[in-house]
Amino acid sequence: MELKEAMTPFEQVNLFFDRAAERLNLSGGLRDMLRRPWRELQVQVPIRMDDGRIKVFSGYRVQHNGARGPYKGGVRYHPAADLDEVRALAALMTWKTALVELPYGGAKGGVQCDPGSLSIRELNRLTRRYTLNIAHLLAPNRDIPAPDLGTNAQTMAWMMDAYGQLHGHSPAIVTGKPVELGGSLGREPATGRGVAYVLEEAAKVYGLDTAGARIAIQGFGNVGSWAARLVHAMGCKVVATSDVQGGVYAPNGLDITELLGHRQAGGAVADFPGGERITNAELLELECEVLVPAAIDNVITSENAPRVKASYILEGANRPMTAVADEILNDRGVVVLPDILVNAGGVIVSYFEWTQNLQEFHWEEERVNEELRKTITKAFHQVRKRVSADRITYRQAAFEIAVERVARAVELRGFV
Ligand code: NAD
Repeated sequence: MELKEAMTPFEQVNLFFDRAAERLNLSGGLRDMLRRPWRELQVQVPIRMDDGRIKVFSGYRVQHNGARGPYKGGVRYHPAADLDEVRALAALMTWKTALVELPYGGAKGGVQCDPGSLSIRELNRLTRRYTLNIAHLLAPNRDIPAPDLGTNAQTMAWMMDAYGQLHGHSPAIVTGKPVELGGSLGREPATGRGVAYVLEEAAKVYGLDTAGARIAIQGFGNVGSWAARLVHAMGCKVVATSDVQGGVYAPNGLDITELLGHRQAGGAVADFPGGERITNAELLELECEVLVPAAIDNVITSENAPRVKASYILEGANRPMTAVADEILNDRGVVVLPDILVNAGGVIVSYFEWTQNLQEFHWEEERVNEELRKTITKAFHQVRKRVSADRITYRQAAFEIAVERVARAVELRGFV
């Protein structure tokens, strides 16, 4: 596939896949099988709105590859969540679960909607209808959804309840649930915690002193806010963060505890009095050592990549940069740690949650965090080793390791 700026999300992920398949010398037939999703379901999701009207949304579940285990992947509620985007995110899950050695395949779901414009009752009805319409694809040993952009533990509770009405009490059907309903301690912070652990390891490798290192984090949702809290606790200076309405900047570091309080009281990040208001675009170009895009896709493009000043980019979000931007940053010597490694903490602890549900047993939070650290640190060093040995980028190395594992599973199963 040819590199160009205007590629669809799925084409962009497959560009990285193709580069890995090429160096691994995979046969054409096997490549074709690994590149395409195994199954795609598109459903209509009609709900009655609070004002009595019926509104129909589009919902999707894409099961990209199941060679290594049950399909696993989040559900996104976002206006841009169309079939191609969900497909791309499903493919990333295949490569992510393989990279961190979880016994899962990859999937993703989505409903094309603006969750911010729906009431809690409408969201409840939307989630139940979506779940019922994809329920025949789900099961604790088939396909296990989780939260993603625009969804959260409450969404998972509704999904579990809707599925349970068909099949009986089934906590292992979703992960990222509230702890009171069988969720795991440590799941909510897990993705942000994984970001912090990867930063710690990378800092050791590159001799970056985390004490006082300046970090800009785009997004202050699940991933961004937990990453901010945890890197702040490590001694880093979180110089900026943002939400959809804009950001805030303090060159000497934001007081994250106060910012969390401000948010809990319903304030927008940009209105936080402890810093200067900036735009999301400005945040990406700030003077800092580390940039963590942790909001949405494609925010770093060929247009702004030349002006990014950070030396290290940790992709907290999925696909935060275009493939062309990735190339520009690599050429400029910026170290880009890819999404399938950096944000894998969420699915790692989802796996721990699922195993606890299957065993009807609970782990202490220290155990969850320790196992998370071990798993993500091991993956980081496997990737790092390949980066050094083959003089390739972290993304190339991560994709090669992942593709190799999925290809091997396909061969061993004897599908073809
Ligand atoms: P979230 O909905 O909790 O938070 C998203 C944040 O991004 C919010 O602060 C929101 O205001 C902000 N945002 C939304 N639109 C924006 C825009 N146009 N410009 C700037 N900011 C915007 O979502 P999340 O779960 O934190 O997910 C964020 C990213 O991390 C997504 O790419 C998601 O796929 C990825 N991810 C999430 C998890 C997880 O466990 N939640 C795991 C792996 C990857």
